[in-house]
Amino acid sequence: MRFSWCLLLVLLSACTHAPDPPADPGLAAEIQRIRAIDNHAHPVRPVLDGPPDREFDALPVDNMEPASDPLNLRPNAPVVLEAMKHFPNKSALMREKGNAYPAWVLDQIGVDVMLANRVAMGGGIQPPRFRWVPYADALIFPLDNSKLVARQPDRKAFFALEDALRMRYFGDAGLKTRPAALSDYLARVVTPTLERHRQGGAVAEKFEAAYLRSLQFDKVDRTVAERVYRANEPSDADYKLLQDFLFRYIAAECGRLGMAVHLHAEAGAGSYFDVGGANPLLLESVLNDPELRKARFVMIHGGWPFTREITALLTKPNAYLDFSSQDLLLPPATLAQTIREWLEWVPEKVMFGTDAYPYSDQLGWEESGWIAARTGREALAIALTGMLNDGEITRDRALELARLVLRENARRLYGL
Ligand SMILES: [Zn+2]
Repeated sequence: MRFSWCLLLVLLSACTHAPDPPADPGLAAEIQRIRAIDNHAHPVRPVLDGPPDREFDALPVDNMEPASDPLNLRPNAPVVLEAMKHFPNKSALMREKGNAYPAWVLDQIGVDVMLANRVAMGGGIQPPRFRWVPYADALIFPLDNSKLVARQPDRKAFFALEDALRMRYFGDAGLKTRPAALSDYLARVVTPTLERHRQGGAVAEKFEAAYLRSLQFDKVDRTVAERVYRANEPSDADYKLLQDFLFRYIAAECGRLGMAVHLHAEAGAGSYFDVGGANPLLLESVLNDPELRKARFVMIHGGWPFTREITALLTKPNAYLDFSSQDLLLPPATLAQTIREWLEWVPEKVMFGTDAYPYSDQLGWEESGWIAARTGREALAIALTGMLNDGEITRDRALELARLVLRENARRLYGL
């Protein structure tokens, strides 16, 4: 009697410790066949001779102080070694394919259209396979940034890059320095820059603001912003008010011009990154601003580690997210839990993305894109299998959700 009780307990505990069901093979095969729209990535222009492409990011993260790298970004990480096998002889392939090389990379990772978060397009990175997402951060820091630079070592390089990009925007606007009044700055620099981006095919504007300050963009009166703009050396607190005003002005303009607003929303690279300042809940007052309901905010990278907080924001009509970068940094089973929670809440706002990025020679945008595309699809398959097994959805609905996440949600959002 006693023995059989023991046996029963052993069997029960074995049951409770059974591994999660793997992805349904039929579902996984269907997901593999869907040609995706990648909501966020940094494709690199193939350059055979001459200086390498540096326009894949406004703030390249290769010149920061040392940090403890996450496992998947370390040299010789198993996923990286596996990805490398799929792209042997990259330079020979680039030479052979020329400007057709970037689209060839998309074919290898099952991506139909990639949103290219770049300072400029060109060199085979062009529509219809690539859609442009330029940068708007430089426009919200129009004053002397030397005090902000002194606050944090990694920001020294960041603000130098933003200052250079703003000078480029001034040049494009036919100006050498910033206009004396805020109204002129808005009319002659900010709005024309956004309109030029839109005319150049941009589908969204990107903010990497979380690398430069917190995501708390408060509502600020224009008269207050005017005063700070004219001040010689405003305090940090006053300068923030001007940045906040400019952010909301740009978001409203993006809404008017039919562009989405992309925000880096995730713990970022570098040992000085302000993780708390990237909490997506800090965006709540922006999402709740009645004047910004026509803008569409896409929280890039899905808010990690605040993935549950971001779920609650999905009910706001102007809030969207993708799981780019999480599918590079996390294993499929871990990411699957997050995706499942999102799909059980507002599935029409959830998008696939890779954050393909040239981290190193070993881990280029090709390999990081390959890892993220594979992990993202596996995680999606595991999440849907769990919902299917628990009787939450039918097989048809599972396939429909897969198509929404991998393709249709982005197609609808950007009108592709
Ligand atoms: Zn990115």
